[in-house]
Amino acid sequence: MLHAILSDIHGNIDALDTTLADIAARGAGTLVCLGDFVGYGAAPNECIDRVRATLEAAVAGNHDMAACGRIKLGYFNPDAAKAATWTTDTLTPENVQYLRDLPMSVLWRGVRLVHSSPAEPEEWHYVLSPGDAAFEMESCAESVCFVGHSHYPGTFELDGELVTYSREPRVLGRAGRRYLVNVPSVGQPRDGDRRAGYLLFDDERFTFEHVRLEYDIPAAMKRIRDAGLPPFLAERLQWGE
Ligand code: ZN
Repeated sequence: MLHAILSDIHGNIDALDTTLADIAARGAGTLVCLGDFVGYGAAPNECIDRVRATLEAAVAGNHDMAACGRIKLGYFNPDAAKAATWTTDTLTPENVQYLRDLPMSVLWRGVRLVHSSPAEPEEWHYVLSPGDAAFEMESCAESVCFVGHSHYPGTFELDGELVTYSREPRVLGRAGRRYLVNVPSVGQPRDGDRRAGYLLFDDERFTFEHVRLEYDIPAAMKRIRDAGLPPFLAERLQWGE
């Protein structure tokens, strides 16, 4: 069965709508979200409203937690902090409650879902090096773990003690190995590829496919400017960084 794994939507409804259209066209039966529904982008309510009823599972991201008052803004950079305050003021009470109720980590169909890292989900670690990935995979009871947070897509494979890393768009999993997949960001890619992204997971063929999609970036940038959010948050969308 084909599943769509979303992460780091960041209030970007233009990227999300393009992503949802592709998911429907590809016939993925279930959707899950790894958090950061909001933060940076100008359409936080629209993004939550679009997916909340259809998600089979979801976890909280650090921007979600900041926007609904579960964590403090102390370690956010100034633009992120401004966007978080704006998001708090903009969210409907229902959506604040939705973000407050999100778990940190979920076991979904035998797969671990977490925003940052399975070992310490509340510490907001980025899993970017093979050493970090090995530690995280060994501390995770499940053999497949999907994470977001870095906005830097790739697939780590652990075979015994050997970790390999792939940035190939499509990876075929093998029995007996462990996988940690950095899922692409829907709404704010940072890997130099400005296209929206999500992961298609086929749990019968055991494949991980990083999908990237052109979307209406000028529209998303205009929304951010019109909302009075920091201009850099609009500009970075066209760079994908
Ligand atoms: Zn994020």
